[in-house]
Amino acid sequence: MHLKRRTLLTGALAGLVPGTVGRASAASRRVFPEEFRWGAATAAYQVEGNNTNSDTWALEHADPTTFTDMSGDAANSFELWPRDLDLVITLGLDTYRFSLEWARIEPARGQFSVAMLDHYKRIIEGCHARGITPVVTFNHFTTPIWFAAKGGWSSPEAVDLFARFCETAARHLTDGMAFATTLNEPNLVGMLEVALPGGRGRKLMGPDKKMSEAVARRLGVDLFLAGNPIYVPDRHVVQANLIAGHKAGRAAIKSVRGDLPVGVSLAINDDQAIAGGEPLRDSMRRELYDPWLEAARDDDFLGVQNYYRAVWGPDGKVPIPDDAIVNSSGSEIYAASLAGAVRYAYSRCPRPVFVTEHGVATDDDAQRAAFIPAALRALHDVMQEGIPLKGYLHWSLLDNYEWFHGYGPRYGLCDVDRTSFARTPKPSAHVLGALARANAV
Ligand code: BGC
Repeated sequence: MHLKRRTLLTGALAGLVPGTVGRASAASRRVFPEEFRWGAATAAYQVEGNNTNSDTWALEHADPTTFTDMSGDAANSFELWPRDLDLVITLGLDTYRFSLEWARIEPARGQFSVAMLDHYKRIIEGCHARGITPVVTFNHFTTPIWFAAKGGWSSPEAVDLFARFCETAARHLTDGMAFATTLNEPNLVGMLEVALPGGRGRKLMGPDKKMSEAVARRLGVDLFLAGNPIYVPDRHVVQANLIAGHKAGRAAIKSVRGDLPVGVSLAINDDQAIAGGEPLRDSMRRELYDPWLEAARDDDFLGVQNYYRAVWGPDGKVPIPDDAIVNSSGSEIYAASLAGAVRYAYSRCPRPVFVTEHGVATDDDAQRAAFIPAALRALHDVMQEGIPLKGYLHWSLLDNYEWFHGYGPRYGLCDVDRTSFARTPKPSAHVLGALARANAV
């Protein structure tokens, strides 16, 4: 079986391996528009390290916990961000997406840290010094412990608290930003039970609830609700607050810098249907994406993030084909899923699309090296159909802390040594860099 998958991979995607990109694409070169951005993304909690004031830190240290590893120093990007920016530019990329850690900026309710705001200002300035376009996520899942201990996004105060954070951060930081997103994949909150592949969400529901109850007990509060939970007591309240939070956050940022393009990054699968599967597929889309695609209609751009396709039949998700190419956790790798996700998103929310994440968890970098150009070819087709695209940001620049999965899954273009923090680009990083330099695939 393994051999078969490998054969398929090398056969189907022949020529799309390091060192052959330019030659392979010479005959059928697909050129992207001049202003198309090429980059990589990270998120503060997953790379900075030692975010001791963030909700996820409390979950990692809970008893019981579902987390397989502690985040610890992560990639130590809190110190080493200049090296990360150097990597971006030397690889040939022009754009870097990173996030602000709310818990560092507002460690206690209403108490804002100028020193931490300055830290993120230096990263933005560091981007400009190197000719990198900064794309800044105001909140990538993690919230301060004090916010989660108030019930997080289920609290009636959540929207105002988030808007105040956005406005304060915007006053200090928006000058140098090129694009901003308010929230990362808020459409998944309370939906991971159905959204995670292989039924993993359902299995984790009970243990996730026990973990957050343990933190609530330790802190002496009724409900501890982190920003990226699996168990959510009332997902309708949380989703309504997140949508209101996005709109209030966007207004707060715009009140400081009206000309800054602001959007939200949504997780969108490529949902397909076999005969009889259309009603299920459509109801899933209605739940998972449509309220957000409606809410984003007034945004300047739509952030699309895609990792998977899901094929729906009359009785639910159809198992992946026997001969599928799979990632390190056994999920299907399907390069055209990005294009499918963008098509659906744009059909419901006709705003320019920015691919703010797309990637694959694999220990076999040849899979990533083949996957990137294949996905970009299909993305180019989407553009030819008339869908405006701002750019493509790969997840992730670095191997990093993959939430409750810990350090197992590797999404990075660059390997990170867990002790020395040395960053080493993988061949796939050069594949993406070569496409970026050519502005073509
Ligand atoms: C998230 C990242 C995560 C990645 C891979 C996205 O859903 O934004 O934080 O690491 O997927 O799982």
